[in-house]
Amino acid sequence: MSSQKLMSEIEESIQRCQKCPLHETRTNTVPGEGNIHSPVVFVGEGPGADEDATGRPFVGRAGKLFEEILKAVSFSRSDVFITNVVKCRPPNNRNPMQDEMTSCSPYLFSQLQVIHPVLIVTLGAVPLSFLLGKKSVRITSMRGQLVEYKDGVMIFPMFHPSYLLRNPSKTKGSPKYLTWQDIQEVKRIYEEYRK
Ligand code: URA
Repeated sequence: MSSQKLMSEIEESIQRCQKCPLHETRTNTVPGEGNIHSPVVFVGEGPGADEDATGRPFVGRAGKLFEEILKAVSFSRSDVFITNVVKCRPPNNRNPMQDEMTSCSPYLFSQLQVIHPVLIVTLGAVPLSFLLGKKSVRITSMRGQLVEYKDGVMIFPMFHPSYLLRNPSKTKGSPKYLTWQDIQEVKRIYEEYRK
């Protein structure tokens, strides 16, 4: 079966999903979107209000900043694949709970199997701690450094764009400054491995 067809089947399963209580309050599922042949996949936490309303990841305020970060290295959204750990919005923008992430994770893992990226860029602590199976992670010390994941796949932690919205300074060493450095490293790896 083609990768495209496999991805469509994953999306259809997500749209029908009732595995956790988040399905009761969602408007739309947000499976993810982008280039399924990209060597780089970005993984956020979960949809917010704008994503729930549109069914698309990272389209709200944080999404606009995320697009600017991509644009800084001449990436467009369609160059890469963008998704989240959970595919339905947690109410009131709370973090997804462990049970919800565990129920939803087969979708993310199937997406990763189809795309088979070289690099998973985690946005914020939630996807990073979930993928590494750790209770907590120190994003400030881990960002910008490659972490071995599995099957030759690496994780590259970055700050979440919402965190950057709360910390807008661009002075040397600030989260935004560091993010602009991190995205250049992501681009370098993308160029090295793009098919
Ligand atoms: N924040 C996320 O983590 N994911 C989105 O899709 C939007 C905001």
